[in-house]
Amino acid sequence: MSDHTSTQSFAFGSKKINYELSFQERKTLGIRVYPDCQVKVIAPFDTTDEKLKNKLREKAPWIIKQQLDFLSYHPLTPPRKFISGETHLYLGRQYKLRIENAEFNEVKLIRGRLLVFKNGRTSPKTLIANWYREKAIIHFDDTLKKVLPLFVKHSISSPELLIRNMSTRWGSCTPKGKVILNPELIKAAKGSIEYVIVHELCHLIHHNHTRAFYELQGSIMPDWKKWKERLDESV
Ligand SMILES: [Zn+2]
Repeated sequence: MSDHTSTQSFAFGSKKINYELSFQERKTLGIRVYPDCQVKVIAPFDTTDEKLKNKLREKAPWIIKQQLDFLSYHPLTPPRKFISGETHLYLGRQYKLRIENAEFNEVKLIRGRLLVFKNGRTSPKTLIANWYREKAIIHFDDTLKKVLPLFVKHSISSPELLIRNMSTRWGSCTPKGKVILNPELIKAAKGSIEYVIVHELCHLIHHNHTRAFYELQGSIMPDWKKWKERLDESV
């Protein structure tokens, strides 16, 4: 049984780490990091504030590493207004948006511009979201076909690919071997998309982020770190 939970934080270098603290009848301090980057700390009843802070500072590098290891999606680009002149990302590149009234609805890329023709009833936001989703389905599927042969030694069967809006994750996979990808990923560079798909395919073989998992991921995609960093920094 835990008593009430409180939200706390501490500073480590330039980082501020938020955590949820609760107390329990137990001997040692427990720290868990969840895929949405939340940190939960369960402390024995008699833990002093000082002891807790020391222990957390000691564990901070581990906590930060766990948070970075998840394929987290924390949008970096500010919310869009969907007005002409604004830039929008597609496959790692910026495109200037131009909206034009027309008799029909259509979205296309022409000479570095994202052109939206709209007939007045549908919002540009909806048209662009649908366009991203269509492009995502095609591009993710092509990328999956491209990387699957790299797994030939590991005899995984071609997984079903699902596109699903997820507010905090780029990708995930189900125990039955379906790979789920966030349509927002279509905004990332091609190499970063490849990285997310490789990462999820590795999870079909190793479910957790173990050493064996990272060895496999490194053997399939030696430069995965570069693409992960680009993903973390750009979209
Ligand atoms: Zn993972």
